[in-house]
Parts: sequence; C-alpha cells; structure tokens
Amino acid sequence: MSSPSFPRLAVIGIGLIGSSFALALRAAGLVGTVVCGDADKMNVAKAIELEIVDSACRSNVEAVRDADLVVLAVPVGAMGTVMREVAGALKPGCIVMDVGSVKGAVGAAVEPFLPQGVAYVPAHPIAGTEESGPEAAFAELFQGKWCLLTPKPSTDAAAVARVSAAWTQIGARVACMGPEQHDRLLATVSHMPHMLAFSLMATADDVAQAEGVDVIGFAGSSFRDATRVAASDPTMWRDIFLTNRDAVLEIVERFKADLARLEEAVREGDEAAMTAFIARARALRRAQAAPTPVEPLPVVEEG
Ligand code: NAP
Repeated sequence: MSSPSFPRLAVIGIGLIGSSFALALRAAGLVGTVVCGDADKMNVAKAIELEIVDSACRSNVEAVRDADLVVLAVPVGAMGTVMREVAGALKPGCIVMDVGSVKGAVGAAVEPFLPQGVAYVPAHPIAGTEESGPEAAFAELFQGKWCLLTPKPSTDAAAVARVSAAWTQIGARVACMGPEQHDRLLATVSHMPHMLAFSLMATADDVAQAEGVDVIGFAGSSFRDATRVAASDPTMWRDIFLTNRDAVLEIVERFKADLARLEEAVREGDEAAMTAFIARARALRRAQAAPTPVEPLPVVEEG
C-alpha cells in the first residue's frame, strides 16, 4: 500500500468543515494519523467518539507538532490568534491551510506569523450546511463542490499542488484566484443571501408580533427555501460580515438598487418593467439549475 500524502493531519477547529475534511481525506486514503485541537471540549469528545480523529491534544500547539498538514477550521475571526499560538510549533516543510469563508482578512491575519519553511495555502470550500459541529460532518460534503484557493504568487508551487490534489481527490473542483476577487464573488453569492435570510426572518417575526399571528408557521416552501441558511451559526456569520465588510456593503448597495427598481415598478404598476425583471431572473435561475459536470476541472491560474 502506498504511504499517505499527509502522514499526520492536525485539524484546529473540529467542527463541520474541519471534521468533514478529515473524514474525506481518511476515506480517500490520504492521511495517516488525524489529531485535533479545539476550544470546545464537547466537540473534541464527539469527534473521538465518531472516529473522526485518532486522538485529541491538550492544546492547539500540541496538535500541530510534527503535523504535515495543519488545517485551520476555526471561525474567521479566530484564524490569526490560532496561527500566532501555533506558529512556533510547526515543523519545517509543513503546510498550513485555512478553510475560512473570507480570504483577504484571514490571509492578512495569518501571514505575519508564518515561520520560514512553512507554506500557507488559503482555501475556501464552497460547501457546507446550516449545521455546526462534528455530528453534522460527512465525508461526501465536498463532492462536486468548488474549492477556491487563494495562494500568493510567491507561495511554494509544490505545496499548492499538494493541497489542490487533495481537494481534487476528495471530489472537489479546484480553482485559484486572488483573495480580493474571491471576497467580492462570495459577498455576492454567499454573504448577501445569508443577509437576506437573516433579515427576512426578522421581518416575518416583526409582522407576526404586530399581527398576533404565527406568520412563520403558515409559511410555504418559498419562505423555507429563502431562509434555510438563517439557521446558521451567529459567531461564524458575525465574523464573516466583519472581515468582508467592504465587499459585503458594496453588494448590499447594489442589491438595494435592484430592489428599488422592482419596488418602483410595483408602485407604478409598470407591468413591462416587472415582467422583464422577473423574466431575467427566471432565465438565470433556470440556467443555474441545469446539472453541472462533476469531474474535476483543471486549476485556473490567475496572476
Ligand atoms: P463550527 O462547526 O462551528 O466549528 C468551529 C470549531 O472551532 C468549534 O468547535 C469552535 O469551538 C472551534 N474554535 C473556535 N475558536 C477556536 C480556537 N481559538 N481554537 C480552537 N478551536 C476553536 O464551524 P464550521 O462551520 O466548521 O466553520 C469553520 C470554518 O470554515 C470557518 O472559518 C468558516 O468560515 C469556514 N467555512 C464554513 C462553511 C459552512 O458552511 N459552515 C463553509 C465553508 C467554510 P466553539 O464552539 O467553542 O467556538
């Protein structure tokens, strides 16, 4: 049997994403020993019980010692603190990868603590659920999903290739881009939809209180579909909005302009404008719903 790509994997933050990545790598035969560090001892106990990790460590520092791949899977606001904490214990040749949902701010928080001889490959799997913790993890989470890598041009190419290969082998599709571009894209297709879901829930609850009626209880599938991600973790989303503030606010302004156009058409009874607005969205949504190929795509290099 060939030796695993990463004999020792350390996951710091053994929640949904860290646990799913560990399970996927193990299922693909890419890791030997898996250890973890986590602030939440219940999550650590659960990860051991579910055989996601072989052993827990007393600290994040102990977990990363001798690791070949260290995965930072804590909330984005904690990435820099964790990196500063573990930096001195990383072995030369080790690769550090974060899986944070925001890349610019996380890179800026992590890079200053990077020791010589350690490669840092930022990654963002566009995969997840509204659940948290190791109980919600599953090895197939990343299959057919994009994983965006945002390494610097100066990052060790061999390390980027090893990380890229690992994601590809667990079924993800990999693309590389700059962190700023990543953050603008994700503000549009992820952060904004979460903002809408949180806000829609608040609006429905306000109406329920004003009317004295269980409005949400009467909701059909459109409300359920539009608010699924409102059940997401508050700490994680607070951190994402704060660390990607500029891009999020830019998209909020764009969205408000679009909503205002639709609002105006409704107010004016402008049938043609309304129909055109909805028809455009319908065509885009139908095109998106078409099945996409699952086979891995080549890595797209961008300057
Ligand atoms: P999660 O299930 O809540 O797990 C995060 C774990 O990290 C928790 O057990 C948390 O403990 C622990 N933690 C927090 N601070 C720590 C520290 N300083 N040292 C050690 N452990 C610490 O979160 P997740 O959904 O897996 O998200 C993890 C990362 O993946 C985030 O950066 C997120 O942006 C990114 N991501 C998430 C998704 C998604 O859909 N969920 C998708 C792509 C990327 P406590 O519970 O005590 O805080």
